[in-house]
Amino acid sequence: MDSKLDAVHTSGLRIRVGISSCLLGKSVRYDSGHKQNRYITQILCRFFEFVPTCPEVAIGLGVPRPPIRLRGDAENPRAVGVTDSTFDVTDKLDDYARSWGKTARAFSGYILKRGSPSCGMERVKVFDSKGMPSSHGAGIFAKRLMQQIPLMPVEEEGRLTDPVLRENFITRVYVYHRWQRMQLLNLNAGRLVEFHTRHKMLIRAHGEVGYQRLGRLVAEAGTRDIQDLAQEYLHVLMKTIKRPATRKQHSNVLSHLAGYLKRDIDAGDKAELVRVIDDYRLGRVPLVVPITMLKHHFRRCPDPYVGHQFYLQPHPEELQLRNFI
Ligand code: SF4
Repeated sequence: MDSKLDAVHTSGLRIRVGISSCLLGKSVRYDSGHKQNRYITQILCRFFEFVPTCPEVAIGLGVPRPPIRLRGDAENPRAVGVTDSTFDVTDKLDDYARSWGKTARAFSGYILKRGSPSCGMERVKVFDSKGMPSSHGAGIFAKRLMQQIPLMPVEEEGRLTDPVLRENFITRVYVYHRWQRMQLLNLNAGRLVEFHTRHKMLIRAHGEVGYQRLGRLVAEAGTRDIQDLAQEYLHVLMKTIKRPATRKQHSNVLSHLAGYLKRDIDAGDKAELVRVIDDYRLGRVPLVVPITMLKHHFRRCPDPYVGHQFYLQPHPEELQLRNFI
């Protein structure tokens, strides 16, 4: 196994993640305020190196400034002044997103401000000609950014309060980051196979169909153009893990991993493990409980395949993300 993937996971280096400036507490909003998010500034800052930008400030709208909103067709709205709809900054925001996208390609994820006509990822109000909210769309900057880097994990700060969505986003950031690092190491068939092998259980927890499809793709390594194959693999991978793993899917993976211990632990330990996995499946205990028990057993009875699975530790333990799902 290539230890460089481990180095990615355990190096302690902070991962570069883009963010709407106001979420870091920068006073860049139209009213000179900010929208500091304490989970981001107190917890995630320890693991992510945030790279902020405020698109509205970047295109030259000062602080304070007249507020803007989306207007017109939900698919193709314009960003215009709330009090002056002839004041249209759509093209400037779009151009800025195109240029920022070149920088953002190096990021492993992005956190956007919910509801903003510039930064909102989805469900941003779109107003009609009478000034009534009539539909929903994405902010101008956010939409172009996501179109340019469609596989980069993107989330809104509001959704990070949901423990399942939070764990899913951070898992995706770490997987994507490991992928980016592997690309820098010079991609070849062996590295792709290793990447897949080490993520097998994690992928499986997110979807059996995606897991099977990725397995078939990896089997083609060495027989087709590696860059072509890698792009297809990454597309299916990010789509598969975007769907949060359910308790049932986690339970299936946990039981599968427990099977590797069948010759190493006694009947009492086996029964306890089965019971704890069942408790998790029924919602009586969080995921950290069966995971901790499995890690305990695998520390005493190491298995080379299981020991290399990122599923057991897809993100830093200190984030305690599995204590709440
Ligand atoms: S939501 Fe985006 S445009 Fe609005 S203040 Fe925050 S960073 Fe700036």
